[in-house]
Amino acid sequence: MTQKNLWDNTDLNVQAMDSLCEDYKAFLSACKTERECAASMKEGLQAAGCLELSDVISGHIRLKPGDLVCTDMMKKALLAFRIGKRPITDGMRILGAHIDSPRLDLKQHPLYEDNGLAFLDTHYYGGIKKYQWVTLPLALHGVVAKKDGAVVPVCIGEKASDPVLGVSDLLPHLAGKQMEKKAREAVEGENLNILAGSRPLEDTEKDAVKARLLSILKEHYAIEEEDFISAELEAVPAGAARDYGLDRSMVMAYGQDDRVCAYTSYRALLDAEVPEYTSVCLLTDKEEIGSVGATGMQSRFFEDTVAEVMEALGCYSEISLRRTLKKTKVLSSDVSAAFDPNYPDVMDKNNCAYLGSGPVFNKYTGARGKSGSNDANAEYLAWLRNILDRAGITYQTAELGKVDAGGGGTIAYMLANLGMEVIDFGVAVLNMHAPWEITSKADIYETYRAYQAFLLG
Ligand code: MN
Ligand code: MN
Repeated sequence: MTQKNLWDNTDLNVQAMDSLCEDYKAFLSACKTERECAASMKEGLQAAGCLELSDVISGHIRLKPGDLVCTDMMKKALLAFRIGKRPITDGMRILGAHIDSPRLDLKQHPLYEDNGLAFLDTHYYGGIKKYQWVTLPLALHGVVAKKDGAVVPVCIGEKASDPVLGVSDLLPHLAGKQMEKKAREAVEGENLNILAGSRPLEDTEKDAVKARLLSILKEHYAIEEEDFISAELEAVPAGAARDYGLDRSMVMAYGQDDRVCAYTSYRALLDAEVPEYTSVCLLTDKEEIGSVGATGMQSRFFEDTVAEVMEALGCYSEISLRRTLKKTKVLSSDVSAAFDPNYPDVMDKNNCAYLGSGPVFNKYTGARGKSGSNDANAEYLAWLRNILDRAGITYQTAELGKVDAGGGGTIAYMLANLGMEVIDFGVAVLNMHAPWEITSKADIYETYRAYQAFLLG
């Protein structure tokens, strides 16, 4: 077994790869929250003639092969189907990714003033190394829901003319004590306070800096301080996705875990011809905090939606839903850790993922003896090898680090609970969960090709 390098492949379609990666970067630059991802992808689907599931239900529309149909869950998760030639009861082909990413969420009472500076208090979301999130430009994305039912979208810090925000850090001259601390304690979660203003409002006695910020928010967004209570505002790294490396072989961007797999899954579904088996693109929320809640993979949203689609195909019953799920094959399209020559110690070199060597199978994840992992069936992996080899796809297999070095999880085991064949399969990422993550363009393109081969296989 030798590690292949996609860049050595003379058949690599550089033009198609670059074109896909330009689209991908534009998507990443515009979409930095689960809501923004779901909205943008829904728009793309609708432009391709995708039906809204609620319209299908209310209009009693009978779905037929080739039809695209989608629905969102609370605007944060998205499920799209392309109806196949075979009856859905023969099983589906699902690409399942997540569209939430680590970030700093504003608290419900975020705004306060301290010694002439105004701050936004945050509670971080997902697994982050807190010291990475200081002294970098942050943008504020999200929505403010008002009592009158209006939902005001917010996006500050992305246009060149916009201001940016950020979290300050101690100067090295005075950081002696801080630098003695463990890295996990050097920057504390409660101290991830975003500096948002310093200019007092005229003729204001108390908290004049905060008062100016409130007047700005009122002027531009018509929101009051109380409205923060019903807001979802996420502070994310400000700025566009960029080519990375002098040779432009990589992409550096925020949120590539797991939007790199979400985007390639979505494009694989969108660009494919009418499949034999009904294709599904499942884009979930809350993966980074355990797939909980109505929009996470643990919710009934997925099963309920499949039931509705089967109803619209005229074949729903509880038993046929269960049988359909059991005949379904899934790629849990989530990222894997790429080998970093700066930190070789955490990886087993024979069983880890390399940048530029294609999409990565993680047969199992988990920690402490595979605990919590979906250990995919050997037979399923053999079936996938056959499909990918026939399509000329370069892929690799990996573990997420050395035994007992750590671990991680995905949505795979929750889908497997429904009796489906599931395996993790996605792009290798450097700097995972850092504000700026790195992927290989060759991997992105090969993953897209692999997802298409799976949907049509
Ligand atoms: Mn992930
Ligand atoms: Mn993650």
